[in-house]
Amino acid sequence: MSTPPPPRRAQRLAALGERPFDLLVIGGGITGAGVARDAARRGLSVALVEADDFAAGTSSRSSRLIHGGVRYLEHGYLHLVFEASRERRRLLQLAPHLVRPLRFTWPVYHGARVKRWQLAAALTAYDTLALFRNVGRHHRLDATGVLESEPMLSRTQLLGGATYWDAGTDDSRLTLANVIDAAAHGAVVLNHARVQALTFGSANGPADGAEVHDALGGSAIRVKARLVVNCTGPWTDEITRLEDPNVGPAVRGTKGAHIAVPAARVGNVGAVTMLSPDDGRVCFTLPGSGGMTIIGTTDTATTEHPHEVRASQADVRYLLSACNRFFPDAALTQQDVVSAWAGIRPLVASGNTGDPSSASREHRIEFSPRGVLTATGGKLTTYRAMSEQIVDSAVQRLASKVRACDTTTAPLPGARRPASGSDVLLVGNLSWRETDVDDAVDREFAESLADVMIRRTFIAFELKDQGRAIAPRIAARMGQKLGWTSAGIQRAVEDFGRAVSRIFSVNP
Ligand SMILES: Cc1cc2nc3c(=O)[nH]c(=O)nc-3n(C[C@H](O)[C@H](O)[C@H](O)COP(=O)(O)OP(=O)(O)OC[C@H]3O[C@@H](n4cnc5c(N)ncnc54)[C@H](O)[C@@H]3O)c2cc1C
Repeated sequence: MSTPPPPRRAQRLAALGERPFDLLVIGGGITGAGVARDAARRGLSVALVEADDFAAGTSSRSSRLIHGGVRYLEHGYLHLVFEASRERRRLLQLAPHLVRPLRFTWPVYHGARVKRWQLAAALTAYDTLALFRNVGRHHRLDATGVLESEPMLSRTQLLGGATYWDAGTDDSRLTLANVIDAAAHGAVVLNHARVQALTFGSANGPADGAEVHDALGGSAIRVKARLVVNCTGPWTDEITRLEDPNVGPAVRGTKGAHIAVPAARVGNVGAVTMLSPDDGRVCFTLPGSGGMTIIGTTDTATTEHPHEVRASQADVRYLLSACNRFFPDAALTQQDVVSAWAGIRPLVASGNTGDPSSASREHRIEFSPRGVLTATGGKLTTYRAMSEQIVDSAVQRLASKVRACDTTTAPLPGARRPASGSDVLLVGNLSWRETDVDDAVDREFAESLADVMIRRTFIAFELKDQGRAIAPRIAARMGQKLGWTSAGIQRAVEDFGRAVSRIFSVNP
């Protein structure tokens, strides 16, 4: 809270067109936010534009884990586990308000695909690849030990298991922290601003900027830049096609769904790693905010557009079946689902068209024929390292003299203000306060109810109506700050209803 509030939207909008930038970063998910932050801290002039809201794409639909990737051991991606473990350690130190240690219990039942000895070997490798500097080491457990750790787990045919450590985060707020820091270091950042065309200095010359549409005001701005960086995750190919409509896909999206159910029904103490009874895939029961337990995720090939992707009834059934198998007393049904949502993993299209779960989670950074620096793949956990590599490539291409990358040691901002006695809660049993709404608007670039209720707070994930009932009250508060008329407040509530239906309704 100590940093001064960023300039208002009108000023940032005007600044976009005023001068050429070193970098124009397209896409305000974790990758674009991380790139903007790193580049601004090194002294480059940066513009960051985001079509919807910061983190509105995959970066608010993840499992919210900063993890070494225990699953990747199965596929032999040891280098990925090593890198992810190192980044997990860094983020735990640099953003303790956003990245918290999380203890996992992995129960092993008779006939499970992963046997006890295999689990022990994998978790030994996991601790070794973290150089034994994870928050804690794994412990092998017999059946009694597993039940001491997670008493509500099924006892039938339980052989034993283990506990191990990873970390949990708030994905959209981690993204936001990077945006806030980028802005604090001079980047001009704008959400609700879509790149609708790339611009080129000459017929065959490199991209020299983009035409950006301001979704709130309706105007178009020409943003000039020495280098354009495409960080649009599952939308990557759409930007590449602005340069060459005939180009083949660089990204192969797979869909992952999650559901939130009341934690009291499941009774999990911490995180539990489960093998799906349907197909043996690893999935998780995770502690969520607002008294929720989150169950995820699926991994299926999809042709759904990232803006429209939603969980399906089949996804919900799959996740309920996994949780009910491990927590039989929960006896969850579709009626217990408080919220359901899905996102698209922006995986590198490497020609691997087989099992989505075994597809590479690595990233690729390359220049397009017209000089757009394009990043594909990656994950939340390794965003900082990937951003550093992207900015290294940019600096080399621009031949700019800049400061060294310092994101390995610079703490991230973005903590919520401490609770005080005069706080007014927005909803009785949730932790969100009226001051969160004020801060979202004043300091965190929120422009719509969806920005506040889905990505600055998690109200929409934590209430069965996704917060529709309290939307008018929050809209009135936002409206006071943003100068909305009563018709504007009404429109904001209607827009929120549409956003909620788009993201949280379940496909048949
Ligand atoms: C179900 C699921 C679970 C996951 N769980 C984890 C996890 O637990 N831990 C982990 O480390 N990783 C996880 N991941 C992976 C991680 O979430 C993603 O790799 C990461 O969020 C991708 O970020 P991104 O910035 O590349 O893409 P996005 O977050 O999708 O950002 C791209 C942005 O570009 C914007 N954009 C698109 N077109 C334009 C345009 N024309 N102009 C301007 N902006 C545009 C979009 O609106 C979007 O906000 C998970 C992924 C999924 C799907």
